[in-house]
Amino acid sequence: RMKQEGGRSFRFYEAQMDEQIEECRALTGELRGALERREFILHFQPLVSARAATIEGFEVLLRWQHPTRGLVPPDEFIPLAEQSGAIIPLGQWVIREACRIAAAWPSKLTVAVNLSPIQFRHSDVVAIVRDALQESGLAAERLELEITESVFLEATQEILDILRTLRGMGVSLSLDDFGTGYSSLSYLRRAPFTKIKIDRNFVRDLPDAKTDVAIVRAVVQLGTSLGMTVTAEGVETLAQQTCLAEQGCHQFQGYLYSRPVPADEAEALIRKPRLNLVNPHAA
Ligand code: C2E
Ligand code: MG
Ligand code: MG
Ligand code: MG
Repeated sequence: RMKQEGGRSFRFYEAQMDEQIEECRALTGELRGALERREFILHFQPLVSARAATIEGFEVLLRWQHPTRGLVPPDEFIPLAEQSGAIIPLGQWVIREACRIAAAWPSKLTVAVNLSPIQFRHSDVVAIVRDALQESGLAAERLELEITESVFLEATQEILDILRTLRGMGVSLSLDDFGTGYSSLSYLRRAPFTKIKIDRNFVRDLPDAKTDVAIVRAVVQLGTSLGMTVTAEGVETLAQQTCLAEQGCHQFQGYLYSRPVPADEAEALIRKPRLNLVNPHAA
């Protein structure tokens, strides 16, 4: 009986797998031409100063407005775009569009763009960034590039050279999702990062999880002593914010302040912030 059931659940599992593979194949096909059909849109999420409780900039988060599937989140299509190579033109479009939109914001605000490791390996990121800055007139100092540690899995020396060139142009570099990947302190030492973004896994269970409090405190100390900004991702509650502020975290991002919103709503936030901004020092 056991065996029979096992066989049945295996066939069920197999059928599910087939369905998933078919789904991926379909999405990959639909990804082709989606850029030309103007199906992508940028959303923006505020980066909030811990000290002054003001908006310092926005992170750009890509969305796919699919004609029948609705708004597809990046986790569902970025991996497919990476596998198929579609990430190259798509990533270039994101950088150009982000710079174009941010150029219209007040000049103290920054814009942060996520980059895929594939873009580093298979396109000229330096030229693409330089062109986007020139075209938009955005000052290089206002552009941040967010990179995860997975970028260092291959060709580390080449990647380091690219990062140093970008930094030399005045662009800021953030180490995204810090603590989740193959975190190596040697990257922090060798690459010219200006910001560490603590992954929301370490923020979720604050302030109760004492281990996470200790990790956050250590990362803030490390980042601060290396002259970097330390940002916490995924801040959803005031209790998390208070705890992060106590550990000396410099910048917050999360649903507590705002979800990622379209460009017009981001501009409304800039003009008249309606954020859940509680100045921990004024409180
Ligand atoms: P990420 O760069 O770490 O971006 C942060 C993610 O956390 C975003 O998910 C954001 O919506 C979500 N988030 C922000 N605040 C909160 C919060 O308080 N609670 C929770 N639960 N989540 C929060 P999103 O937009 O779905 O993006 C997922 C990932 O997709 C990003 O992670 C990034 O790695 C990737 N991605 C997004 N846009 C691009 C892009 O233009 N290019 C590339 N290469 N990757 C992108
Ligand atoms: Mg990011
Ligand atoms: Mg992140
Ligand atoms: Mg992430």
